[in-house]
Amino acid sequence: MREDTRRWIEADKKHCWHPFTPQGIWEQGDPLVLTRGEGAWLWDSEGRKYLDGNSSIWTNIHGHHQPALDAAITRQLAAVAHTSYLGFANPLASELAERLCGLFPGGTLERVFFSDDGSTAIECAMKMAIQYRQQTGEPERIGFIAFEQAYHGDTMGAASLGGVARFHERFRKHGTPVTFVTGIEALRHLPSEAIRQSCAVVIEPLIQGVNEMRPWPKGMLCELRAWCDAHEVHLILDEVMTGFGRTGKMFACHHEEVIPDFLCVAKGLTGGYMPMAATLTTGEVYDAFLGPAENAFYYGHSYTANPLGCAVALASLEVFETERTLEKLEPKISLLAELLGDLKHPAVKAVRQCGFVAGIELAEGLGTKACLAMREHGLLTRPIRDTVVLMLPLCTTEEEIRMAVSAIGEALARVTA
Ligand SMILES: *Cc1c(COP(=O)(O)O)cnc(C)c1O
Repeated sequence: MREDTRRWIEADKKHCWHPFTPQGIWEQGDPLVLTRGEGAWLWDSEGRKYLDGNSSIWTNIHGHHQPALDAAITRQLAAVAHTSYLGFANPLASELAERLCGLFPGGTLERVFFSDDGSTAIECAMKMAIQYRQQTGEPERIGFIAFEQAYHGDTMGAASLGGVARFHERFRKHGTPVTFVTGIEALRHLPSEAIRQSCAVVIEPLIQGVNEMRPWPKGMLCELRAWCDAHEVHLILDEVMTGFGRTGKMFACHHEEVIPDFLCVAKGLTGGYMPMAATLTTGEVYDAFLGPAENAFYYGHSYTANPLGCAVALASLEVFETERTLEKLEPKISLLAELLGDLKHPAVKAVRQCGFVAGIELAEGLGTKACLAMREHGLLTRPIRDTVVLMLPLCTTEEEIRMAVSAIGEALARVTA
């Protein structure tokens, strides 16, 4: 091991604390130190290269070190790195907001509230949904309806909507009142009292990510929209994972032509370059925050609408057009389905795919072992329990997709030998 790698690992073990990580186990191993990226590839500090099999925790879209994205940041850096959005506008935030709204039919999602990450995008939607009711004569509607096993982030509000017991249970009583349902049928059977106390339903459209990549039944989103309309409950779509092409269309809601009342985006917004998020909403919601000053939305973060983030987000949307990213993705999605279909191994319990997102459920106890073995075959990813996540950057080539799936096959053969 190189001297500097050794030094970084020592400092990590001595001073760093990692997300979602049992640190006692972490300290017994030697983590990879990632130092460089190019396209769908990452390099560690020892010079070994790996396919970025989970798009750097579901964020990367057009690859690493992407020339157009790099250039956008450099260009903005020459002007200014950050200015306050509190009391001031900035050029690229104006352009980005316009561009994001333009991805939806005119007169639907018209307003963009910027924040920092998926959790804060959800936090904003929740607070807006509650305050909207206060200002439209239904202040008793403070609850939310969410789905079991859902994941919407880790800040206190967003975590209240989370249905994963290990992550969320211990903070449950500190959060917002939430009614959990298993699916659309359970929703239809909710007592009307519970509905009248709820301001919004929150869902990860098409597929629940953290719940081991579990897709919803086809047409479910449409039915949910109709149910929300019938009961005057707002629909919050958490497209933090599904946004920006992951499911094969720009947004998951485009598959069923559903327009939510709030749309939360983050991870892929900047192509996976910078922490930045947005909550999009309708003119109707926005209008309820006009009038006297106490009706304003008193919420914000210091780095809201950070110009570097806006610059790279705009560049990413531009690349979707110049590179025809979604068009080129279609054959890749089919190829992935075909290759995963051929991944016949007794340890594979189920394969779930939604667009370019896949979860390969392995026999109990194999998730972590298999992912560690995949590193030896040049693929970097992380399991959710025993489900291996395969979520490659959209720029991944067909040859690289083949490599990724064969790395999974080889790793499986090895850990089950
Ligand atoms: C990652 C994720 C979040 C939280 O986003 P952060 O940027 O990690 O705060 C929320 N919802 C979904 C569906 C996610 O995948």
